[in-house]
Amino acid sequence: APAGYQARPDLLAGKTVLVTGAGDGIGRAAAETYAAHGATVILLGRTVDKLEAVYDAIEAAGHPQPAIFPVDLASADEQSYRELAQAIEENFGRLDGLLHNASVLGERRPIESATWKAWEEVMQVNVNAQFLLTRHLLPLLQRAPTASLIFSSSSVGRRGKAFWGAYAVSKFATEGLMQVLAAELENTSQVRVNSLNPGATNTAMRRAAYPAENPTDNPGPADIMPAYLYLMGDDSAGVHGQAFDAQG
Ligand code: NDP
Repeated sequence: APAGYQARPDLLAGKTVLVTGAGDGIGRAAAETYAAHGATVILLGRTVDKLEAVYDAIEAAGHPQPAIFPVDLASADEQSYRELAQAIEENFGRLDGLLHNASVLGERRPIESATWKAWEEVMQVNVNAQFLLTRHLLPLLQRAPTASLIFSSSSVGRRGKAFWGAYAVSKFATEGLMQVLAAELENTSQVRVNSLNPGATNTAMRRAAYPAENPTDNPGPADIMPAYLYLMGDDSAGVHGQAFDAQG
């Protein structure tokens, strides 16, 4: 986002936005922030208790009533995504935004000793599920006057690093999916597509990846929301096919 970017309070008024992994970490902050800026947020995740807590917080704050869609991205089959798209169409008619945020870290070890099971789960959640969701929600995004798709990347999705294994590879794939889609939608669609690297952020994933670090040395999810707002809202109209960093 441009330095010092501040979203106006009604930036997302009238928009319906889906956030994956909305129950915790950055996804939770994004869901609550989007709702606070007027969006009707569709909370997708695997742990219903967590999604309900986010739902309650949004309602208690008096923001537009959200919706909950429990989906386990590790095990959902293609039919589940078709049904999800159908349910969104019936309830909202279209989709104005999609934040692909859910991810798993997997194993932190050399490729030499990586296990197929962990590799497969990371690729399923971080890549395959992301493709299926994009594939089946694109028609609803194309129905919106303008729509924004944000893919969550990482520094290791732009430059590989030892011991980051499937996670790093999944983030390179995420950048690839973003670029392919951006090229296909160039000039033919009002849907814009970008990737966003949150940078080191104090969440459960970061604490698991860096157990020796003092967690509060990193910004919290709420601190990095300007970039998430900028890319989701119409202030970034015309910004397409680019890789962003939430922390500059
Ligand atoms: P968290 O682990 O805190 O949150 C991840 C979210 O994804 C959780 O809500 C989790 O649900 C959900 N999720 C995981 N697996 C599944 C699944 N199978 N089905 C449905 N939902 C699932 O991570 P962060 O908030 O830190 O990360 C958010 C994004 O930012 C990720 O894409 C991550 O790769 C990226 N990122 C984060 C960085 C950081 O420093 N935090 C740095 C670089 C990139 P549940 O809570 O139920 O497990």
